[in-house]
Amino acid sequence: MPGFKGGCLCGSVRYECSAEPMMAAHCHCVDCRKSSGIGHCTHIVVPKEAFSVSGTVTFYDRPADSGNMVRRGFCPTCGSAVYSTNGGMPDIVLTGPHGVVQAAC
Ligand SMILES: [Zn+2]
Ligand SMILES: [Zn+2]
Repeated sequence: MPGFKGGCLCGSVRYECSAEPMMAAHCHCVDCRKSSGIGHCTHIVVPKEAFSVSGTVTFYDRPADSGNMVRRGFCPTCGSAVYSTNGGMPDIVLTGPHGVVQAAC
C-alpha cells in the first residue's frame, strides 16, 4: 500500500498520507532555519486530499517573502513540527520535517 505515516514526539498528533510524495526538498530560507533550529527544513510535498491528521495541531502563521501565508503546524505539547501549508499552493501539504516520518508505526 502506498503512502506513509508519521507523528510528533509525544504521540498526540498523528498523520497519514495515502499517496506517495510528489517531491521532497530542503528549504534554506530564514524562516525555515529559525523554525527548525538548523540550516534548513525538509519538506515532503503531498497532495492535500491524501493527507489526514489526528490530534490537536497549533499553527503559527507568517507570510513568506512571496506574500503567501505559510502556516506551520506543530504539536502544542512537545513542539514537534508536523506539517505546513502555503496559501499560494492550496492543493498541497508539506510534511515530514525533522524526522517525524515513520515507515509503519
Ligand atoms: Zn507531541
Ligand atoms: Zn523555507
